[in-house]
Amino acid sequence: MRITRISAFQVDLPLHEGSYKWSGGKSVDVFDSTIVRVETDAGVTGHGEVCPLGPFYLPAYAKGAREGIRELGPHLLGEDPTALWPLNRRMDAALKGHAYVKSAIDIACWDILGQVSNQPVCTLLGGRYGDDFVLYRAISQESPKAMAAKVAGYRDEGYRRFQLKVGADVETDIARIHAVAAELQSGDVLVADANTGWLMHDAARVVRGVRDVDVYIEQPCDSYEECLSIRRRTDHPFVLDESIDGMPELLRANADQAMDVVNIKISKFGGLTKAKQARDMCVSLGVAMTIEDSWGGDVTTAAIAHLAHSTPTELLFTSTDFNSYVTVSTAEGAPQRQNGRMAASTSPGLGVAPRMNVLGDPVLTIG
Ligand code: MG
Repeated sequence: MRITRISAFQVDLPLHEGSYKWSGGKSVDVFDSTIVRVETDAGVTGHGEVCPLGPFYLPAYAKGAREGIRELGPHLLGEDPTALWPLNRRMDAALKGHAYVKSAIDIACWDILGQVSNQPVCTLLGGRYGDDFVLYRAISQESPKAMAAKVAGYRDEGYRRFQLKVGADVETDIARIHAVAAELQSGDVLVADANTGWLMHDAARVVRGVRDVDVYIEQPCDSYEECLSIRRRTDHPFVLDESIDGMPELLRANADQAMDVVNIKISKFGGLTKAKQARDMCVSLGVAMTIEDSWGGDVTTAAIAHLAHSTPTELLFTSTDFNSYVTVSTAEGAPQRQNGRMAASTSPGLGVAPRMNVLGDPVLTIG
């Protein structure tokens, strides 16, 4: 089987809550997402999606994803989409770095592999654990009172794991953590994600200011070394995210005992192939994981579900149902949150069928 055409579609994804805000005053009102279609000479078609969290979260931006696919596409025509590692090595040889550019193509090829082998991607990624898996709800950055007021409603939707967006001034962040912690019930889990927003002295004050709160601290500072410094002066369970974007970084952080949980975002690692490699290594190392992506709609949510559902339950800290945050549905068959949990499709491939009336015409076609 050979790749005969690669197309990309641009889709705007507005948010039910109007905007999503996190550290450093960063916010997004409408996410700019790219859905990729890979066609083959066997008539099988696969889909993937990449949606950066704006241009200022990771070194990734929506227009860059599309330009990168335009650059990469011609190198992939004629390649076998079901040979995932040769395909990934081909992509790495043709375009250095830019993992996020490769992610949607890789996901689309897993979709093809699933369809031709008549298996859900979840099975091909290692096999399904249990009936469903656990989700978290991100609480967009607002005043402490406003963030605390969100907890009850999210719990009514079934969420029991809450990720606060902090990473602003120290006193307000300490107040945010205390205010939300006061709303928690037995069994709830609280994460304070600073998204690189604190300097070391800020982070040191926050972790001391919430010493008696049962809260995970996620990516307090910009660099790995700064985060490691904070890790070594707090006994809060610790999550690394932005600093860990490949296997060397993952292995180094494990060797340093720099984290208890790692956030594996599919596009940060370059697709399902490399995210699976990182996931499998974390299973062997006993490092728990949040499995998700930077953002996305139905196709991204499907890809997340297949990777999360094929992760041992006790090692899956949380995952995300991005398609419930956005107002636009881009595909039929995507998994839907039920009581704070989600399940991967049992249909072959990703189990999604893009809504062509939503996708419109492709913004680029190669082949
Ligand atoms: Mg994070």
